[in-house]
Amino acid sequence: MSARILDGRAVAAQIREELRAEVGSLVSRGRRPGLGVVLAGDDPASAAYVRGKTRACEELGLYSETARLPADVSTQAVLDRIADFNRRDDVHGVLVQLPLPAQVDAERAVSSVAPGKDVDGFLPENVGLLVRKRTRFAPCTPAGIMQLLARSGIAVAGRRAVVLGRSDIVGKPMAMLLLHADATVTCCHSRTPDLESVTREADVLVAAVGRPGLVTAAHVKAGAVVIDVGMNRIQDPALAERLLVPERRERFAERGEALVGDVCFPEVREVAGAITPVPGGVGPLTIAMLLHNTVRAAG
Ligand code: NAP
Repeated sequence: MSARILDGRAVAAQIREELRAEVGSLVSRGRRPGLGVVLAGDDPASAAYVRGKTRACEELGLYSETARLPADVSTQAVLDRIADFNRRDDVHGVLVQLPLPAQVDAERAVSSVAPGKDVDGFLPENVGLLVRKRTRFAPCTPAGIMQLLARSGIAVAGRRAVVLGRSDIVGKPMAMLLLHADATVTCCHSRTPDLESVTREADVLVAAVGRPGLVTAAHVKAGAVVIDVGMNRIQDPALAERLLVPERRERFAERGEALVGDVCFPEVREVAGAITPVPGGVGPLTIAMLLHNTVRAAG
């Protein structure tokens, strides 16, 4: 039987509606939440992500401002823009869109965001608070996944969770949040031998790798919950044949590309109990949690 599809768009819409009331109350007290975004260079994917984020802000009545900087920008110029956002009272959250151009010291830039405005939750101070379970800003993607699980009635306490990927942005905070929710957590990476035998133990499997279709039916225990974080653009027709459900193949033929996750959706949905699609799964939740963190920062 085919898995239940976990609809990230619907859960994200629910979160946004809940935030709407809070935004209204903050605005009536003269404190409209504001997000400052630093976007450097001309990477089309980054520009699209930033458009999505600022559009979501506007739709909810938040103030947003994007500092667009040229591809040859210096580290100092990026630091100056961040410092400006840090200082301003109308900006409560500051977001540095990655990747930054190669000549910019990205670590220095991200580290210069004021901890109280670090709505991505990337700074050591906020990571420390997360680890100590005194969370100020949980990184948006893992926080969104926890919301999706909870609001879909999927309990994780006492269950085996396997996180595939150990990045600072997704894998590690995901493992930490699942641990805080009383799951028994294993975190895998590129040096994990016999990946399949580890992932097959998972009641909840989160894939955050960035490799299209890495997770196959052989990686998944029957009935497991599979969360696909991956966002990969594919152009190879053979890959499309394997990773896209028939309804999406026609569109691929027209456009010559498609967005897929890390999970081979057509075969894994036949084994899993529940699964997130790409697109329409984790992505919308990431944006909803960015709004959530920005509203918290203003409140
Ligand atoms: P990342 O920093 O590149 O980390 C990838 C992780 O996957 C690393 O820990 C790496 O292991 C591991 N890995 C790579 N190949 C592997 C393999 N063959 N077997 C097992 N593990 C492997 O990526 P990220 O920033 O976490 O992002 C992961 C994916 O999620 C990307 O597709 C990204 O676009 C997507 N993403 C989506 C959202 C969203 O809102 N939906 C948000 C953020 C990211 P090592 O540490 O050993 O190298």
